Amino acid sequence: MLIRVLGCSGAIAAGCRTTAFLLGDDVLVDAGTGVGDLTLQELARIDHILISHSHLDHVLAIGLLADSVIRPRETAGRPPVQVHALAPTLGALRTHIFNGVIWPDFTRLPNAEHPVLRLVPIEIGQRLLLGGTTIEVLSARHTVPACGFAAEGRDGWWVYTGDTGPNPALWKRLQDMKVAHLVIETAFSDVERPLAQISRHLCPSTLGHELAQLAGTLNGGADVHITHIKPGETEAVMAEIGRLGSTHRIHTLQAGQVMRLG
Ligand SMILES: [Zn+2]
Ligand SMILES: [Zn+2]
Repeated sequence: MLIRVLGCSGAIAAGCRTTAFLLGDDVLVDAGTGVGDLTLQELARIDHILISHSHLDHVLAIGLLADSVIRPRETAGRPPVQVHALAPTLGALRTHIFNGVIWPDFTRLPNAEHPVLRLVPIEIGQRLLLGGTTIEVLSARHTVPACGFAAEGRDGWWVYTGDTGPNPALWKRLQDMKVAHLVIETAFSDVERPLAQISRHLCPSTLGHELAQLAGTLNGGADVHITHIKPGETEAVMAEIGRLGSTHRIHTLQAGQVMRLG
């Protein structure tokens, strides 16, 4: 399976798009501004959207996508696009986005019987079979209810932490999984460590503590990809991560990159 990185920045600027990954051609993980680079045909092929949490940089393209694909999917007789997220996240989407003020309620359009979007609650630890791929919902610790996701390939799992601060439960779970790719956030540099703590994100020093707990898991076989760095901060953050002296293979995730999961 190919995983396309549509966006992996912590905010927007020219060339910087917020979080979105395309698994195969029909499963979207998070719906940040990176979704806007897909063609209409690619957008219309998406049957499932997995959402890690309710923050705008991860959800803003759900409604825009719905607006774009409503006609093509209706014409092709496609079922509603399923939006999978924790129940509080779905509640936030209903209350604050699909409320007829910020955006129309696309869970009732073009009509309530055959809407373009369907909201589907998920729980931590649940396994889903989407587009032929097994996906597990992982825990995350953020300022709002949040989760991460793991997608199973033949050679191991692709793991995406979502936005999270330090999270011992994740490393406990990953001990039993063969991780091929770990996409982990590092939103701030160490200069902003207090802000990272308040906003429940990682910075290089806390990332080092997290990766140390992964040590026994990877057997030298996984690639660690850093995501959600703020625009303009990449060099500083990656230099600080370099000084951690981690034994893991650590890369800067880039929009447009394609990860292969055997
Ligand atoms: Zn967030
Ligand atoms: Zn975010």
